[in-house]
Amino acid sequence: MSHIPHLINGERVAGTGRTAPVFNPSTGDSTAAVGLADRATLQLAIDAAKAAFPAWRNTPAAKRAQIMFRFKQLLEQNENEIAALISAEHGKTIEDAIGELKRGIENVEFACAAPEILKGEYSRNVGPNIDAWTDLQPVGVVAGITPFNFPAMVPLWMYPLAIVCGNCFILKPSERDPSSTLFIAELLNQAGLPKGVLNVVNGDKDAVDGLIEAPEVKALSFVGSTPIAEYIYSEGTKRGKRVQALGGAKNHAVLMPDADLDNAVSALMGAAYGSCGERCMAISVAVCVGDQIADALVEKIVPQIQALKIGAGTSCGLDMGPLVTAAARDKVKGYIDAGVAQGAKLVVDGRDLVVPGNENGFFVGGTLFDQVTPDMTIYTDEIFGPVLCIVRVGSLEQAMQLINDHEYGNGTCIFTRDGEAARLFCDEIEVGMVGVNVPLPVPVSYHSFGGWKRSLFGDLHAYGPDGVRFYTRKKAITQRWPARKSHEAAQFAFPSNG
Ligand code: NAD
Repeated sequence: MSHIPHLINGERVAGTGRTAPVFNPSTGDSTAAVGLADRATLQLAIDAAKAAFPAWRNTPAAKRAQIMFRFKQLLEQNENEIAALISAEHGKTIEDAIGELKRGIENVEFACAAPEILKGEYSRNVGPNIDAWTDLQPVGVVAGITPFNFPAMVPLWMYPLAIVCGNCFILKPSERDPSSTLFIAELLNQAGLPKGVLNVVNGDKDAVDGLIEAPEVKALSFVGSTPIAEYIYSEGTKRGKRVQALGGAKNHAVLMPDADLDNAVSALMGAAYGSCGERCMAISVAVCVGDQIADALVEKIVPQIQALKIGAGTSCGLDMGPLVTAAARDKVKGYIDAGVAQGAKLVVDGRDLVVPGNENGFFVGGTLFDQVTPDMTIYTDEIFGPVLCIVRVGSLEQAMQLINDHEYGNGTCIFTRDGEAARLFCDEIEVGMVGVNVPLPVPVSYHSFGGWKRSLFGDLHAYGPDGVRFYTRKKAITQRWPARKSHEAAQFAFPSNG
């Protein structure tokens, strides 16, 4: 069985201590063991990043960007290999893995604009012979902790931008599917990144706690579930670190009575069942305004759910692969059991799905509940599986109240032909990312990504302009060069232009 190492100071490091099994979720086989860094291994990465920082922060932004241009080319050249690695450990389909990578590459493209992004602000003659400017300086050694569900894209939200801003980075990817993340990091080294600027440390809670506690680590970016996001935010900020921690979600799609139903159903199929529902922007609740649209939705969507092509993610032409682990499969099935016990109407049941030839894979079929009410756990909790719940309400206002009362506020969307309803929804909904007839409104790389309420802890969203703010510190410099041979007398009043 292969061993997945760490990447420290430009080298693969086996590390000492514990390991965890990595599975191919389509077959259920354990395919590798990943090293779980102990504190000594983590310290090697911290030391490497710290040592690389002085030279890297002084490397011109244009030179840093040139490395990102080469990195983008390498990512594109290796697209198929990366997609295969993602699919083999995550289980998502090859097409979905390529889509994730392409969205990640957009963040590398944004980072290529480093010289423009980092220009700062300048004001000449703010007083006699005085000029002022604001510089965007790197924070130092920063770390990112990422989830299993986007092993390529979410790390690419973080380190390309952090690195072009002049920081050195330690990435702690998910221990469930670390191979594609490691492969991609090695491509950045191949692109010419100096040793120690990017380090990948595999591990679990112990490595994360080490990053939180290390005084050398000045900022933490986290993406994952809400309890861990909250933990990292509170422990990190307590120690004076800058923290952005993106958490879980329960994303609602509102179907208005005038929605284009065929398009809404296609959109819901992809958004609810794509990636087996393991997306933080997955739609898991369809809020139908009126029984008529709810009944029409059920009639149209049921045959499509029953026709989903489900199989080993590594094969092409499928709609859906397995869940990531046996534990994830059992958790999702447990929620379906609970939905039945709590009185929801199970319209399509994915619990007994068997994929011929992959009988031991971690599969659950597309599942649909109708008549779901807000007190049921299938409504309150993030299931993170291929389960869509229909909630019926009487008006747009009730739909919005329902969404605004939910603890999560990551993404949402509305399907309608009514501009007034769409405008009200965009204005009043308590959610960070909103789609109008767009089911997965994941912002492009030059707009930042982030939820509201318990979907994000911290002030700044991920990537884009907020990412630049997060990975830089502002320094305001005021400089005077007195005219030659002039002498100014001491002034004891507070300096002003009055
Ligand atoms: P997770 O919270 O279990 O793990 C995320 C990271 O935290 C991993 O690197 C993991 O090793 C680490 N971790 C796990 N337990 C820890 C602990 N007790 N202490 C310290 N670190 C710990 O999340 P996951 O299951 O990998 O990913 C799925 C979750 O991520 C879902 O809730 C999903 O909504 C969320 N997610 C959110 C976004 C977003 O942008 N808001 C994006 C992707 C995923």
